[in-house]
Amino acid sequence: MSLDHIDAGDPATIAASLATRFTDQYGRAPDGVFAAPGRVNLIGEHTDYNGGLCLPIALPHATYAAVGRRDDGTVTVASAQEEGSPFQGRLDELGPGQVKGWVSYAAGVLWALQEDGIDVPALDIVVDSRVPVGSGLSSSAALECSVALAACAAAGVDVDDVLRQRLVKACMRAEAEVAGAPTGGMDQTISLLGRTEAALLLDCRDWSTSQVPWDPSSAGIDLLVVDTRAAHALVDGGYQARRDDCEAAAAELGVALLRDVTDQPAALRSLSDERVRRRVRHVFSEIARVGEAVEQIGAHAWEALGRSFAASHASLRDDYEVSCEELDVVVDTAMRHGALGARMTGGGFGGSAIVLVPHKEVERVSAAVDDAFRAAGWPAPGFLTAPPSNGARQVR
Ligand code: ADP
Ligand code: MG
Repeated sequence: MSLDHIDAGDPATIAASLATRFTDQYGRAPDGVFAAPGRVNLIGEHTDYNGGLCLPIALPHATYAAVGRRDDGTVTVASAQEEGSPFQGRLDELGPGQVKGWVSYAAGVLWALQEDGIDVPALDIVVDSRVPVGSGLSSSAALECSVALAACAAAGVDVDDVLRQRLVKACMRAEAEVAGAPTGGMDQTISLLGRTEAALLLDCRDWSTSQVPWDPSSAGIDLLVVDTRAAHALVDGGYQARRDDCEAAAAELGVALLRDVTDQPAALRSLSDERVRRRVRHVFSEIARVGEAVEQIGAHAWEALGRSFAASHASLRDDYEVSCEELDVVVDTAMRHGALGARMTGGGFGGSAIVLVPHKEVERVSAAVDDAFRAAGWPAPGFLTAPPSNGARQVR
């Protein structure tokens, strides 16, 4: 059986066929086509909403949005990933409680941009995505950010780095307030600010960013992404329960964010609840591992980075309890077949894992993971390669 490789596709080709689709649907060409990438987080998981550090890279896999202005106050949204007729609504009725389901991620952005004072015109929008949806690779932010960029262009607003920071906040608001899925901001930030050849070190306390040159391929090492295809739903309770534990701990410790704790050993000793203590231990140790990983990447210490990946996974599995059987099987199998390190990435409860592996071992590791899934009777996993890629941009 051949492996299921998930291809990012050629941006110009995807944009051209999306433009054709738009033209077929609306009888006119789109004004432009915009793309925003999905992401994998190298390390620093469940730290963003604690004001911590994370280190994502943008994927070559993106969501594409074709847009055209209209002049009647109506917004339509269609997706190649959703059957059925396009959504149609009023531009001034896209806020919380007014749109539901997948459309809320796109329409919610138009609402949030208006809330931020951007004069969004009425629009037709057609999207198509190469980011697997619901796989922990942030198709939601890719959708939001592609629509945000498209709407700004339609509004005639210049998109510089300052505006991109505002768009991060607008997309976060859309996902939290309209789609009803609070996220910590990592996904939107990397989708809008990602650069090729670098990971983005993001400090989620003050939202400062810095580029961390990321080039394992120069040492013959690949980053392999494995989509377990196991269900994960951030809208469900698990993610919110972790956030609630962190908030409760911060309140008990008298800080706004867990990142603000200065004496971590004392804080851990003082927490009254055993589960909450383990959650906090993960947050502390994971933030520390991000700092270590940045040094390891800078020193091209790939084996040490692999050990950091493994420690991160163990902490997410045991202390934070957001892994699952499929993710653990990817990690364990990859490690047994020559990977330097592996860990779940994204929110967890399914979704995807990343594997740091010598290029010459990629096929062997992939085949072993695929075999393990078949032996367990699970659907075949998907495989992606992840050279760091560009953030949101106009492609046509
Ligand atoms: P992830 O961001 O990891 O892919 P989420 O659960 O955060 O997973 O977001 C997935 C949801 O985003 C989907 O259930 C759907 O509502 C919406 N979505 C993302 N991409 C698309 C798309 N191309 N078309 C329609 N809806 C999409
Ligand atoms: Mg998401």
